[in-house]
Amino acid sequence: SSIPNVTLNNGAVIPQLGFGVWQVPDEEAVPAVRAAIEAGYRSIDTAAIYENEAGTGQAIAEAGVPREELFVTTKLWNSGTRDWSGRQGRDAVRAEFDTSMDLLGLEYLDLYLIHWPRPMHGSFLNVWQGVEELLAGGRVKSIGVSNFGVEQLEVLLKESSVVPVLNQVELHPYFPQQELRAFHADHGIATEAWSPLGQGKSLLSEPALQQLAAKHGRTVAQVVLRWHLQSGVIAIPKSVTPSRIKENLDVAGFELDAEDMAVVASVATGVRIGPDPQEFD
Ligand code: NAD
Repeated sequence: SSIPNVTLNNGAVIPQLGFGVWQVPDEEAVPAVRAAIEAGYRSIDTAAIYENEAGTGQAIAEAGVPREELFVTTKLWNSGTRDWSGRQGRDAVRAEFDTSMDLLGLEYLDLYLIHWPRPMHGSFLNVWQGVEELLAGGRVKSIGVSNFGVEQLEVLLKESSVVPVLNQVELHPYFPQQELRAFHADHGIATEAWSPLGQGKSLLSEPALQQLAAKHGRTVAQVVLRWHLQSGVIAIPKSVTPSRIKENLDVAGFELDAEDMAVVASVATGVRIGPDPQEFD
């Protein structure tokens, strides 16, 4: 497809646009992921907590696309019932990973992420060391984090041996995460945007963005995704509607100039849609 690739700090390559499946029930994930792969998506983002790893895996198996052409991500859940401290926590990471792999039905995973840092527990470094140990097993090619702030990334950079390939965070024109992106860039960590379309809410009816979409003969969703790509961000929009699944991938063939990029930036509010990762447990 015409979607650019991003090379991660370990040499692995991820498509800059992927398909997210949060809030897609397991049975619905089968047709949705199938439609996405048929449309040309080669990167799929799920998580243990989405409870659709089985449906996602089934769609991947049925798609008939060579495994090495796909980039599959899943995430380690916060797991309120487990003790993440000490050795036991690391073993629990392996058990969680194995469960995800069984559900996905895959021989190997492209990317495993810690879903949230939960800094109030002081255990993310230990969890990360458990995730690092998975690399040696060869069933996961890359490891990274999600919802980490600069403070947590600094701990990993100082205290652990593997630099996360990316940090998946809430990022859209309302909440552009400039400071975190600059930190990532300084440390070879790629930025991946969750809720890249602002969850399809008011962002898509912003008058300034509607004008820009009209100017380019595109939809607001396409303009916003174009903004992500031109910002060097990896984006994983979600839809279960086949026409939108296609629309969200069809973002080549036009370009935002500096003035257009400034218009998109002008809608920033600095307000999150999702929870604050420093507080979320
Ligand atoms: P999103 O920004 O991708 O918006 C999705 C919603 O926007 C859809 O449900 C639909 O209502 C609407 N939409 C999609 N395409 C559209 C189009 N072309 N035109 C009009 N409306 C459209 O929001 P998201 O699902 O929250 O985020 C994307 C993915 O990011 C998730 O599926 C998940 O994989 C990931 N995610 C990760 C975390 C995390 O903590 N790591 C949190 C939230 C989401």
